[in-house]
Amino acid sequence: MLYIGCHLSSSDGFESMGKTALEIGANTFQFFTRNPRGSKAKAIDPKDAAALVTLLKQNHFAPIIAHAPYTLNPASADPKTREFALLTMQDDLQRMEFIPGNLYNFHPGSHVGQGSETGIKLTTQLLNQILTPRQQTTVLLETMAGKGSEIGRTFEELAAILSGVNHPEKMGVCLDTCHVHDGGYNLNLLDDVLTEFDKKIGLSRLKAVHLNDSLNPLGAHKDRHAVIGGGQIGTETLASVINHPALKHLPFCLETPNDLAGYAQEIKLLRSLYRG
Ligand code: FE
Ligand code: FE
Ligand code: ZN
Repeated sequence: MLYIGCHLSSSDGFESMGKTALEIGANTFQFFTRNPRGSKAKAIDPKDAAALVTLLKQNHFAPIIAHAPYTLNPASADPKTREFALLTMQDDLQRMEFIPGNLYNFHPGSHVGQGSETGIKLTTQLLNQILTPRQQTTVLLETMAGKGSEIGRTFEELAAILSGVNHPEKMGVCLDTCHVHDGGYNLNLLDDVLTEFDKKIGLSRLKAVHLNDSLNPLGAHKDRHAVIGGGQIGTETLASVINHPALKHLPFCLETPNDLAGYAQEIKLLRSLYRG
């Protein structure tokens, strides 16, 4: 069974996202926990959350992914910016308890000139303030393209963050195909990339994949997503990703530049390329 979906708007609430996912042939999806610019989140409607939980269960969805606002910077040099990231992520994780057993993905941050070692330390510190032994959500570090001073471009940096957290059992990684390609990992040599991932991080930590093509060449450090087959990675390589024995059970989420009809088409295409 291929678990595939796309990024959806959360503006109409939880259950509405589940219904939209069903309409486009998805059995997982991603949404922003709040406006990506980081404003205040709408109050949770427990009934709406419960309705989504039922829908996901009845339709055998894979875990869904809540994405933190991408403007947060847990590795900032400014204590106020770090505090804002901390409070936002803490609040998001409390809200995630209304839809237990799912994933919360975030960008590890930018060191903004402090050096990646300091950035890694700050992000680890923040994680140690938000992770609790009772939480029912797995927090994911996203593999990054290495744009500007982003940390998390290399598997070593992600491993360094994970090695410093007090509750590693609550943590995992989300591999973004556009980002790793832009970060310099050649997905045409998928076995080599996954062997490297396994050596540095451990494949058991990999909990989700963002399936995107990239507008830019290998190692460009740009982070510009393209539709499947419309970029430099290509349909064949992305098909090898969903079919790889080490990955094929994971939730795959499209973040391609598409409207819902475009997403429905890409989901259909990828299902036709999945070899069970
Ligand atoms: Fe992301
Ligand atoms: Fe992504
Ligand atoms: Zn991206």
